[in-house]
Amino acid sequence: MTILDGKKTAADIKEELALEVVELKNKGKKVPHLAAIIVGNDGASLTYVNAKVKACERVGFESTLIRLPDDTTEESLLNEINILNVDSDIDGFIVQLPLPKHIDEQKILMAVDPDKDVDGFHPTNVGKMALNLPTFISATPFGILELLYRYNVETSGKHVVVIGRSHIVGSPMSILLSQKRRIGNATVTITHSRTKNLKELTLQADIIIAALGIPEFLKADMVKDDVTVIDVGITRIADSSKKSGFRLVGDVAFNEVSEKASFITPVPGGVGPMTIAMLLKNTLLACERKN
Ligand code: NAD
Repeated sequence: MTILDGKKTAADIKEELALEVVELKNKGKKVPHLAAIIVGNDGASLTYVNAKVKACERVGFESTLIRLPDDTTEESLLNEINILNVDSDIDGFIVQLPLPKHIDEQKILMAVDPDKDVDGFHPTNVGKMALNLPTFISATPFGILELLYRYNVETSGKHVVVIGRSHIVGSPMSILLSQKRRIGNATVTITHSRTKNLKELTLQADIIIAALGIPEFLKADMVKDDVTVIDVGITRIADSSKKSGFRLVGDVAFNEVSEKASFITPVPGGVGPMTIAMLLKNTLLACERKN
């Protein structure tokens, strides 16, 4: 069994990015600049967005964090987005989700200039992704592709079962893995909360992508021997033995499933760190395309 070590792979990618920054500087070129907008004080969102900003600093990117209060109106958020859209120093930016309920998320994502949409959430970029055209692939699916690539996991001709059909993970993952691409050419089954015979399907899978957000949902009796398992789930479970007061649990019962798997991602340290690394990669890409 091989652990698909997202923490180490993400560190490798960040080292590669840092070298590219040095090269850009040596050539007198502009360093990539990522901006992030966060609305409100949600603890998990603040942790994620701070991790993104810190990661920028570590690789030598410039970063800007824009913090807006919980009661920010949709109009003023749209105004902030427009400022970033026209700021030529900003190569890419993200709006940290979820947004407060009084703000229409779709309207906000639509307002981001697709050329700066390093999260890859704008319909233009989702459409390009679906057509296998050059674009920004959103960071979590992009990270999963990269992890499979760097560990030489064969996907061609394999049966992939994706659990979950969200716009940010399950749906793009199913599209990407079925495409004719380096990591792709798989036969993909996408499943969701209305799927009836899930276990029958997962038992046929060579590769399982679990992205449903139910802790330890995928058990050993649901997978065949030598399966590859990508655990996207992150749920905070209260744990008084931890300094933070919680621990992170994935969608896979790791201890039992890892005994049958040939490749498996841990939680934490699997898909999570890859997501940030690929956001940085998209920012570099945005900077290169623009300049
Ligand atoms: P979501 O919450 O938007 O959707 C969950 C999906 O799971 C839905 O499509 C639903 O139909 C499906 N589902 C629910 N119950 C099911 C069941 N019993 N059987 C089959 N399918 C079922 O999902 P999301 O936003 O993709 O998040 C999923 C998990 O991944 C969450 O834990 C989230 O925190 C995590 N996540 C992690 C990263 C990362 O960087 N590692 C990124 C995004 C999401």
